[in-house]
Amino acid sequence: MISNSLRATLICSIVLFSSCKEDIKKTTEKNMSDNVLIQEWTGPYQGVPAFDKVSVEAIKPAMEEAMKLNLAEIEAIANNTEPATFENTIVAMESAGKELSRVFAYYGVMGSNVSSAEFRKVQAELAPKLSDFRSQISQNEKLFQRIKTVYEASQKTPLEPQAQRVVDLTYKQFEMNGANLNAEKKKRYAQINKELSSLYTDFANNVLHDEENYITYLNKDQLGGLAEGFIKSAAKIATDKGEDGKYAITNTRSSIDPFLTYSTERELRKQVWENYYSRGDNGDQYDNNKIIAQILKLRKERVGLMGYDNYAEWRLQDRMAKTPENAMDLMMAVWPAATSRVKEEVADMQTVANELGDNISIEPWDYRYYAEKVRKKKYDLDSDEVKQYLQLDKLTEAMFFTAGELFNYKFTPVAEGTVPVFHEDVKVWEVTDKDSGKHIGLWYLDPFAREGKRSGAWATTYRSSDSFEGEKNVLASNNSNFVKPAPGEAVLVSWDDATTFFHEFGHALHFFSADVKYPTLNGGVRDYTEFQSQLLERWLSTDKVINQFLVHYKTGEPIPASLVEKIKKASTFNQGFGTTEYLASALIDMKLHLADPTDIDIDKFERETLDELGMPKELPMRHRTPQFGHVFSGEGYATAYYGYMWADVLTSDASEAFREAEGGFYDKAVADKLVKYLFAPRNAMDPAEAYRKFRGRDAKIEALMRDRGFPVQKI
Ligand SMILES: [Zn+2]
Repeated sequence: MISNSLRATLICSIVLFSSCKEDIKKTTEKNMSDNVLIQEWTGPYQGVPAFDKVSVEAIKPAMEEAMKLNLAEIEAIANNTEPATFENTIVAMESAGKELSRVFAYYGVMGSNVSSAEFRKVQAELAPKLSDFRSQISQNEKLFQRIKTVYEASQKTPLEPQAQRVVDLTYKQFEMNGANLNAEKKKRYAQINKELSSLYTDFANNVLHDEENYITYLNKDQLGGLAEGFIKSAAKIATDKGEDGKYAITNTRSSIDPFLTYSTERELRKQVWENYYSRGDNGDQYDNNKIIAQILKLRKERVGLMGYDNYAEWRLQDRMAKTPENAMDLMMAVWPAATSRVKEEVADMQTVANELGDNISIEPWDYRYYAEKVRKKKYDLDSDEVKQYLQLDKLTEAMFFTAGELFNYKFTPVAEGTVPVFHEDVKVWEVTDKDSGKHIGLWYLDPFAREGKRSGAWATTYRSSDSFEGEKNVLASNNSNFVKPAPGEAVLVSWDDATTFFHEFGHALHFFSADVKYPTLNGGVRDYTEFQSQLLERWLSTDKVINQFLVHYKTGEPIPASLVEKIKKASTFNQGFGTTEYLASALIDMKLHLADPTDIDIDKFERETLDELGMPKELPMRHRTPQFGHVFSGEGYATAYYGYMWADVLTSDASEAFREAEGGFYDKAVADKLVKYLFAPRNAMDPAEAYRKFRGRDAKIEALMRDRGFPVQKI
């Protein structure tokens, strides 16, 4: 088993506009809009988004009109004179919001895949309007009273399980969003949300600004240690940016990671490192520190209106962890093992540096560089050699194979031109059941980095499955930032990137396999929803995948058994670094939201908290606070970053279930249970209960410690 799931998953987040789910609606009249972005999707496969017709000019009026339609539907539900029932209230709400969901599919792609300064302006204009719109629904008094009536009736006479769950979730969501507040507090609540949404946009745009504007250009004599492919693409990027003859190191993870690992130019490594870890922290107009302090204050004030002590307590009540204490307990149980492993790693690196006569002591910009040398020395593992066996196309086939074995899916390329795409790099496949041929959905892949595309990797849906109004197919997408090769070159990726590729595909499979009745039940539970994708990473290193798909890009020979053995041995390598950089971010996220934000100095808080924790000086947080988009460019991962590790405990434990099974990772019986309890129900079943059905017990933290090569103690 080779898992680097931690490092791999951190660069991913799911873009699910889950907020749409509260943006409920029901139209009675047919939508007559002539805005192309609002219209029903037409064409094959139950209709597909008209990505070829997307324009920045159309998005704002489309969004405004869709919000208006949605609000009209909500008003109709709220003002219904009939007594509130499950059908006329909850089902009506589930049925509403179709136009808005369609517009959001475009809006998401425009924001994440093909953004521009022009679009970001529209985004900034729409942000407060969207927030206002959400508040109008979540604070609709008449609507909430009807939901409450249905909820209270269901407490006496329970509904069928999926109906009951959607009632429970809907009621809870309204309650958590201030529906029980009095008029005055509600007003303040809405005001806070509006301010926050503008701050989130500013935060994200500041990080993006610093990513696009701090580029390090190298000369020909500064390329020491760098791989040929990397040099070629750096040259191309420089040329594209009008710096012909130079080599550009952009300020994104996919660019800095290989540079810091291989470049022999220590001063340049320092410069590149500082650019990257200073994003949003440069003391200029794009500095995020004051924005963060403001966000923390507003979040605390908002939950205070509802009587909560702090944001974390409010946030975690409907998560699998339930309380901040449970999340902190897990993190602090792993932290000592992680940081003491860092000490060992640094000692190993210092030895190598001394042997080379480098006369340095390890600094943060040296970590990746010397770690790679230790890796070679200890495991004789050359990442570049491994790359020769990791071709993007073959990895894609490997994922299809895995999906076929576990889910019985078949992937068939859709002929170019049949389904509109938003960029020529995007490819589309049809997903069907292997035996029955039943259509399940479409899978869109947008693999390459380009300007205007956010960094990292992510999965999203343009349409999710539910069955209460008849069967619906799924339109899911995976998005990565692989460096586009020069024409004719194969796309070779690192082991980490291959792992991330599988990870994101796991999210897509989770979307495809959904078997839920109501849209709300498709929603993710933040500390659970990374589990399915993390688990799927494990199939990359199974024998069947290795032997069929991990073949040399020139000779076609399968990866040698000895190299696989080395990869497996190296799997716990650098876990001190990976776990510590992650946990530092997760702990700061939680502690920031448990702290008193009055007069908080973010920079000082980060520094002092890390000191108290005993953060090793040789590495930074994975995401320093001023660039921590998971937490501050929205609320998706605020006090939720711990969730990756929470999910990883489940991942380690669930993969032991496969390892113990007769058929290993391809065991039919375990795979069936996997799909039935851990994938298909999504949020239609309580996650803790679903896991127990799969495993027969709760997950154990010891499995995670074993996976990372940490000593297992009684915890
Ligand atoms: Zn993920």
